[in-house]
Amino acid sequence: MERVGFVGLGTMGRAMAGHIARAGYSLTVWNRTPGRAASLVQLGAREAATPTELASTSDVVIICVSDSPDVEAVLFDDDGLAHGLREGSLVIDCSTIAPATARSAAERLADAGVAFVDAPVSGGSEGAEKATLTIFCGGDEADVERAGPFLQAMGRTITHVGPVGAGQAVKAVNQVILAGTYLGVAEGIVLALKSGLDVGQVVDALGGGAAQSWVLANRSGRMIANDYPLGFKVALHLKDLGIALGMADDVGAELPVAALCAEIERDLIARGHADDDMSAVARAIRGGAGLPD
Ligand code: NAP
Repeated sequence: MERVGFVGLGTMGRAMAGHIARAGYSLTVWNRTPGRAASLVQLGAREAATPTELASTSDVVIICVSDSPDVEAVLFDDDGLAHGLREGSLVIDCSTIAPATARSAAERLADAGVAFVDAPVSGGSEGAEKATLTIFCGGDEADVERAGPFLQAMGRTITHVGPVGAGQAVKAVNQVILAGTYLGVAEGIVLALKSGLDVGQVVDALGGGAAQSWVLANRSGRMIANDYPLGFKVALHLKDLGIALGMADDVGAELPVAALCAEIERDLIARGHADDDMSAVARAIRGGAGLPD
């Protein structure tokens, strides 16, 4: 059985690494900020002192950190994974990053005989907890096949969408669609609140119709309560929209709703809400209607 290393024990990574441990793999973990590995150590994982050390005892390394520069740092810094990975090992990056960064990381690793698959995930913190994530994979057929058992331990719907970088491109599309969905649900909730409707009943009634969505089912309650526990940080979605809007520029597409959502998120961050759940975009719509925000 291949030995697995997991780097990045945040909201998503810690839950995802737990599924790898429970699937019976020998697991080594590392997180930049110490003290995040206790629940995994209880499941039998070993905590490494550095990414290099983790890589030197792993055949497959899964990464789940925030952004493109962070993936580059955990791979190529002085104590990075690249210095411990051996020829024939595989890196699976589950972070959401720019497709171009995925491609350049894959090229640098290929020089050392290390394979790379980009495998960004969707499904929220609940999906990570329940191992029901949707995962978009980019990479060579054989590498994606090798990654399969690890991804299946963490997710439910796994699709190989093309070469390295293609998984990230699909994830950018996902994040653009989410921008519109969150804003649409927030507008509907605010209209229901202001119209004096029984908003809980409205959510239940709409759940069976064409307005049904994961966001309506799982995030409208936060918008009604004006309380936005994590979740998925506003700052991370803005990072994703930066990737998507950059791709749109490159291909000559205009994304007005994504651009509006990014503007709302920048404003939220300026107001100190970077770590709110993304459903906090409702604050902007609530504020416009004179509701507490
Ligand atoms: P998070 O809770 O903020 O955790 C981020 C993790 O990345 C932490 O372990 C952090 O370490 C680590 N990290 C960040 N920069 C680093 C660096 N330069 N070097 C080493 N480690 C670094 O974020 P998350 O919600 O788990 O998200 C992780 C990734 O999954 C992101 O790309 C995000 O866009 C994506 N994602 C998130 C969700 C969601 O619902 N949360 C859903 C789908 C995809 P520290 O503990 O030291 O800060």
